[in-house]
Amino acid sequence: MPNLIDLHTHSTASDGLYSPAELVQRAAQAGLRVLALTDHDSTDGLTEAAQEAGSQGIELIPGIEINTDAGDGEVHVLGYFMQYSRSAFQSVLKTLRDARVQRGQRMVERLNEQGVNISWQRVREIAHGAVGRPHIARALLEAGYVKSIGEAFDTYIGNHSPAYVPRYRLTPDDAVRLIASANGLPVIAHPITVPGLDILRGWLPELVQTGMVGLETYYGQYTPEQENALLALANEYRLIPTGGSDYHGPGIHPTPLGGRYVPSEAVERLKAEAAKRRKATPPAFTLPPPVQE
Ligand code: AMP
Ligand code: ZN
Ligand code: FE
Ligand code: FE
Repeated sequence: MPNLIDLHTHSTASDGLYSPAELVQRAAQAGLRVLALTDHDSTDGLTEAAQEAGSQGIELIPGIEINTDAGDGEVHVLGYFMQYSRSAFQSVLKTLRDARVQRGQRMVERLNEQGVNISWQRVREIAHGAVGRPHIARALLEAGYVKSIGEAFDTYIGNHSPAYVPRYRLTPDDAVRLIASANGLPVIAHPITVPGLDILRGWLPELVQTGMVGLETYYGQYTPEQENALLALANEYRLIPTGGSDYHGPGIHPTPLGGRYVPSEAVERLKAEAAKRRKATPPAFTLPPPVQE
């Protein structure tokens, strides 16, 4: 059966390897009918992607992914169908991206102190949009300090490595509120991998109360058993099961673009919910004051 829908992908607007237009071209080659671009903390790739989608005959769903700090782990919150040009929404995204820059600089300083000579300037050249550790990893790879991106995380920049610096992140609830403030639909990403079902179960009642509408169920390499467990959880909390590959370009995640079957019902249900919200005045969102980490 052809895979026609992919609701989780990244481009050079964050840490993907292909530009938004290239990603859409590749999606068309893979036979996709519907594609969501869900870059980290950025909607800057959406205009280019939508334009290319128009010429390729693909439907582009505007999306985003916000990695949040849940204290006991992290929850990645996807958002779909936001009215993303709203200035209040963009201003929060800019704050998140600025925090990424400051944190990236500090991580490069720490690496330099440890005798690892990569430059911040080079990291900035590699990153075309929201800067993240994957860009630092590519600079380490290029300079010959590691043989793979995975090794860069394991040796230098992973959460427990000496050069690691945390970055300012929203709470899961705030990410839900931020997406809702632009009339978008918040969805929990890859629940089994991050944060893991045990941690997620603790968060679910509150997140659903705050306005979560979906649970990423048809994800990457999740097995039929895992998919069934997520379908049951989605049912229990009346969440829409969504799905996608989390494609970042070749060699980053194992699932190819469009490589996970996602039923068209996922898109239909998201669209029906988005249509309801478009008519409503969205609740305002105010960024909480930064906490010192
Ligand atoms: P950041 O948002 O800058 O903290 O970087 C986190 C991103 O790095 C995640 O969204 C993943 O895409 C990527 N990442 C995290 N851990 C690894 C790993 N071990 N190998 C490759 N990529 C990773
Ligand atoms: Zn990523
Ligand atoms: Fe994620
Ligand atoms: Fe992702």
